[in-house]
Amino acid sequence: MGEGSKAHRRSAEEKLPSSSHGVAKSASSAVVPVAERGRRSRPRESAGQAAPGNADFPIDEVMRRLRAKAAHWNAPVVTLMAEQNQGPFRVLIGCLLSLRTKDETTAGAVKRLFALGKTPQELLEVPTRKVEQAIYPVGFYRTKAKRIQEICRILVDRHGGRVPNCLEALLELPGVGRKTANLVLVKGFDLPGICVDTHVHRITNRWGYVRTHTPQQTEFVLRSFLPRRHWKTINDLLVAFGQTICKPVSPICSRCPVAEFCARRGVYRHR
Ligand code: SF4
Repeated sequence: MGEGSKAHRRSAEEKLPSSSHGVAKSASSAVVPVAERGRRSRPRESAGQAAPGNADFPIDEVMRRLRAKAAHWNAPVVTLMAEQNQGPFRVLIGCLLSLRTKDETTAGAVKRLFALGKTPQELLEVPTRKVEQAIYPVGFYRTKAKRIQEICRILVDRHGGRVPNCLEALLELPGVGRKTANLVLVKGFDLPGICVDTHVHRITNRWGYVRTHTPQQTEFVLRSFLPRRHWKTINDLLVAFGQTICKPVSPICSRCPVAEFCARRGVYRHR
């Protein structure tokens, strides 16, 4: 799922023009206590190490409170979510377009693009120049237009014109990283997956629920730790929460419904 913040542009999982690689799956034995609020020192563990999740963190209660408040947040991601609930191909293309692009811009681009063709076969027949025009002004629109057509070609040639429903096959598509692949599984196929973007990574670390250095480490720790009932919903909730309250710079802790549980790790300035 996309975001428009500078933080997102810096830490988008799938880089343009090539994908990111390299994840340290190892975990140290240190567990971060919830009662770490007020500490402002940086994590001491060496780069690359990920600590296990914090078993004392009341994740059920936190998710319940966020769900109860979510309807009142006017988050840009909501527009995009409406676009994403329309089949795996649309989710896949929407996610690719959203990299380094605001959610509102992405939603419009997806609409215009799918007006030209709704299937990989149909989009392959559209001239690349027209695809570029349809998705403009998303970031890197020329590269993305080319990539979309590469993906359409692979889907037609190797997958019968359909989006595959397994993580490994999705990760073989050009420009598709773990965030996009998980989002396609969850939103496109209603299968279990944990989509970790910069918001999920940042917020779960601030809480002290995980202690990790990269979104991919966070995904692996959450896979071993987060109750399955929250897998499909954590991304939508935390993206909306991150766009409105727990912002990348200076989160609005005074309006936070889960402040009492948050360790505020790495938060140096807040409102
Ligand atoms: S808004 Fe503040 S208190 Fe709430 S989760 Fe974010 S850092 Fe923690």
